Amino acid sequence: MTTEAHRDDAAARLRAAGLKVTAPRIAVLDAVSGHGHLDADAVLSRVAGTLPGTSLQSVYNVLGALTDAGLLRRIEPAESPALYESRTGDNHHHVVCTRCRAVADVDCVVGEPPCLAPSDAAGFAIHTAEVTFWGLCADCQREVAG
Ligand SMILES: [Zn+2]
Ligand SMILES: [Zn+2]
Repeated sequence: MTTEAHRDDAAARLRAAGLKVTAPRIAVLDAVSGHGHLDADAVLSRVAGTLPGTSLQSVYNVLGALTDAGLLRRIEPAESPALYESRTGDNHHHVVCTRCRAVADVDCVVGEPPCLAPSDAAGFAIHTAEVTFWGLCADCQREVAG
């Protein structure tokens, strides 16, 4: 996809979510889309080229608005900064490396509905199941073994 088409796509997604289309929103959505799990610092460095002078605080504000609108998902593994991703709505899980903090997506363990239907929900209406697996990533396993 060309950069131009990419920006159009981001603008269309903003409009579809009922958000006003602004340059910072396009830049942040574009920076996160298809790039895995990024923290706000990583997003800031990705948008610095298109939006010189952007502050970390304004990146946080935009990330918050995009997350509230359902365009981004925020995950907060223990002892890691909040991470943002564009893969939303499928209730997928994450595996985090305890050594280097690498994060990867894990599809729902036993299919989507079972994860969303705990045996006892204590009267809550469940909409999300957040499962984090912890372990050593492939690179770290090699380094530890070597
Ligand atoms: Zn690792
Ligand atoms: Zn993910």
